[in-house]
Amino acid sequence: MSEERYIYDLADGDGTMRSLLGGKGAGVAEMNRVGVPVPDAFTVTTTACVQTMNNNGEWPDGLADQIAQGLKRLEERTGRTLGGSERPLLVSVRSGAVHSMPGMMDTILNLGISDESVVALAEEFGNERFAWDCYRRFIQMYGEVVEGVPQNLYEDALSELKHHRGVDQDTDLDADDLKGLVETFKQISNDHLGGAWTADPREQLNRAVNAVFKSWGNPRAEVYRRAHNIPASLGTAVNIMQMVFGNRGDTSATGVCFTRNPSTGEKALYGEFLVNAQGEDVVAGIRTPRPMGEMKDVLPEAYEQLVATMHKMEQHYKDMQDMEFTIEDGKLYLLQTRNGKRTAAAALKVASDLVDEGVISQEEALLRIEPGQLDQLLHPAIPPEHGQIPIAKGLPASPGAAVGGVVFDADTAAERGSKGEPVVLVRFETTPDDIHGVIEAQGILTAHGGMTSHAAVVARGMGKPCVAGAHGIKIDPVGKTLTIGDRVIKEGETITLDGTTGDVYGEKIELIPPQINEDFERVVQWADSVRRLGVRANADNFEDATKARELGAEGIGLCRTEHMFMAQDRLPAVRRMILAESSEQRAAALEEILPMQQSDFEGVFTAMKGLPVTVRLLDPPLHEFLPNLVEQSLLVQRLEMSGGDSEELGEAKQTLAQVKRLHELNPMLGTRGCRLAMLYPEIPDMQTRAIVRAALAVREREGETVGVEIMIPLVALSQELETQRAIVVAAVEDELAQAGAELDYTVGTMIELPRAALIADKIAEHADFFSFGTNDLTQTAIGISRDDAENGFLTQYVMDRVLERNPFETIDVEGVGQLVEMGVERGRSVKPKLKTGVCGEHGGDPDSVEFFHGAGLDYVSCSPFRVPIARFAAAKAVL
Ligand code: ADP
Ligand code: MG
Ligand code: MG
Repeated sequence: MSEERYIYDLADGDGTMRSLLGGKGAGVAEMNRVGVPVPDAFTVTTTACVQTMNNNGEWPDGLADQIAQGLKRLEERTGRTLGGSERPLLVSVRSGAVHSMPGMMDTILNLGISDESVVALAEEFGNERFAWDCYRRFIQMYGEVVEGVPQNLYEDALSELKHHRGVDQDTDLDADDLKGLVETFKQISNDHLGGAWTADPREQLNRAVNAVFKSWGNPRAEVYRRAHNIPASLGTAVNIMQMVFGNRGDTSATGVCFTRNPSTGEKALYGEFLVNAQGEDVVAGIRTPRPMGEMKDVLPEAYEQLVATMHKMEQHYKDMQDMEFTIEDGKLYLLQTRNGKRTAAAALKVASDLVDEGVISQEEALLRIEPGQLDQLLHPAIPPEHGQIPIAKGLPASPGAAVGGVVFDADTAAERGSKGEPVVLVRFETTPDDIHGVIEAQGILTAHGGMTSHAAVVARGMGKPCVAGAHGIKIDPVGKTLTIGDRVIKEGETITLDGTTGDVYGEKIELIPPQINEDFERVVQWADSVRRLGVRANADNFEDATKARELGAEGIGLCRTEHMFMAQDRLPAVRRMILAESSEQRAAALEEILPMQQSDFEGVFTAMKGLPVTVRLLDPPLHEFLPNLVEQSLLVQRLEMSGGDSEELGEAKQTLAQVKRLHELNPMLGTRGCRLAMLYPEIPDMQTRAIVRAALAVREREGETVGVEIMIPLVALSQELETQRAIVVAAVEDELAQAGAELDYTVGTMIELPRAALIADKIAEHADFFSFGTNDLTQTAIGISRDDAENGFLTQYVMDRVLERNPFETIDVEGVGQLVEMGVERGRSVKPKLKTGVCGEHGGDPDSVEFFHGAGLDYVSCSPFRVPIARFAAAKAVL
């Protein structure tokens, strides 16, 4: 059996090999291919990582050999030897997955330095301090990442040394200091490992590769993957790359740059650098770097070269690039390039500009936009004139407004945030380990770190407002206080961040609703001209329906009527209707409700100005309208004990009896939807009359036609629909006859029970349209209670990846998806033109929208704020 190939030398790869070499590996190979200077390297494939994961951490046969050979070739090409006492080779061991996960996995720098090679390195570059600086960095990084030595052991030793020497900065330590520090670090490592510290660079290389494999599975990477729906099965590649040194003195530097501004999309140089530093110093946010523009003065030639390279790479990739570079003694090297993570606003602007610049087509522009991300555009903002004075200022690292209580650690942020409490995470600097807190926080404030730190990149990718490097603030994570000037802010006190300007306010500012910008208007038109799938909204009142129209909804796909019943001032009448002992009593209660319903419908019809509106007839479980069984029992008891008003007691007892009679153990599978209407036909009759009267009134008043679609919920049996349809039609015809008017209308049904999908052909005989209620369909097909899902095993399933995604967020294509496809197919086998749509959360989920497009539905309907997302997702489904 011929052995699988696990290693690709730099020259053997190219930009198309992302899934094998990871984004980083493919990126450097591609840069090398087109003549951009990158350090020499070889890459261990993602396959090697996956096979290792699937084999309990054992490397596949041949991998160790192939790495040794790859190293040998690299040594030959560079004329250097790993750990050699002459012309030593130092390498970095870098993680690099298919999807970029900034800072989530591990990277080790300066591997190959040893007691022998450190001397050779010092001699070669005539710089002793530099060589020992590399060595101490290596021992610390390797110790932490590969051997699990606690970081603070090294940090404490470093602080102690600085204190002892009476200096402030690492850079104030001289070669002898660092030499001593290396000894201390070695001791620390060796002690921690009980004497098992290995000093052999080749052995270290293998262990480092293995540590990077393992870092794919570390908790923060897992949290990040879950937040971005990246499959856990992909694994990471490992890049072994010759070190270039940004820390060789004042003619050396390292930095990160973007070809455009990733916050706004503006075409302007954006980036940061540090002189005499190694890459980690910038991206880890430990030192606050200098803005790119200043590099022009410090390192003019390298700067010109960098600007030219950035332009070249953007033209080559036809997209905004995020690049890492190092300058070693005036010579520029690129270490990484990737499509830059950006905010939604930037995504739209970049796409729109690239079309104007003739770089990409409109369709390519659409493919550049992540529909799910557009959510960000729809967040509230700080009003331009609010009269508050900022108490601190930092870098505007990720735009948008965040209001929330201050918390000082990621765990608390995650805990409170996940319960719906708005929090702002305040940290000295954020590290990738804070990711779970970042996800749940409204925004991030740091005292340290720059615009291109991992924290800033991750925040922008998620659309979280972030103010970074606010030097004026003092954070006491133990005492849990934030001090700005003489103001002390305690945990839980509310602050406001403006990530667009970098301003921090010491109080809550009332935000204003989001504004859709011009770039959005322009690009969404392109999406509309491409998509086939219609996009409607779910809305129950004038305000929501108006918002939906503004955001481009082409109708209402679901107008629920139970919310209208639930309003406090209506509940008494609704209860009387349900608890009625006779048809007459019920009719009387309904008489009271009818005008209220009518006015609700008038609001929605008015807002939609003639666009179709699907009104779903009543669909709540009964108990939602009734007094709670336990509470009612307690009330009776209390009245009995207090021996009070006997009339009141009598009423309470009667109500209790009725509640008991109607009590259901499984209300979600009980008397809901059309089942209620089958028991009490007066209800659909009343609702239909309210709809017709509203439609006629609006037509009369606004002069607009009204697209009335009446929908029967929770049908399982064709007989149910036949009966309900007859009730609806009779009521419509009666109303129209009384009014002497005509009205176009249709009557359709929800398909939200598996049985309905199975017998869709029979049901279609009585339906003008189907609307798949995928929430209930998911609940009933998988048998998971949607209301309990978040608290129960489902969360665990998603954590453990028993399920890749929560089926209430994104459609379960494999299972529930089949029911949708079957429903469409069987329905259309009877009525080829049967109109089909989806309402429910899935209608606003990009992946689900793609599936619905493929299943041949006519439209999706989602909440108003998801409408823009659905418009883009529907376009992408076509492309
Ligand atoms: P991440 O994925 O966390 O950004 P990287 O593998 O990109 O990790 O490494 C982090 C930093 O280390 C890079 O920004 C780069 O500046 C520096 N670095 C990595 N490899 C080298 C190298 N061969 N020479 C010099 N610096 C390097
Ligand atoms: Mg990087
Ligand atoms: Mg339902």
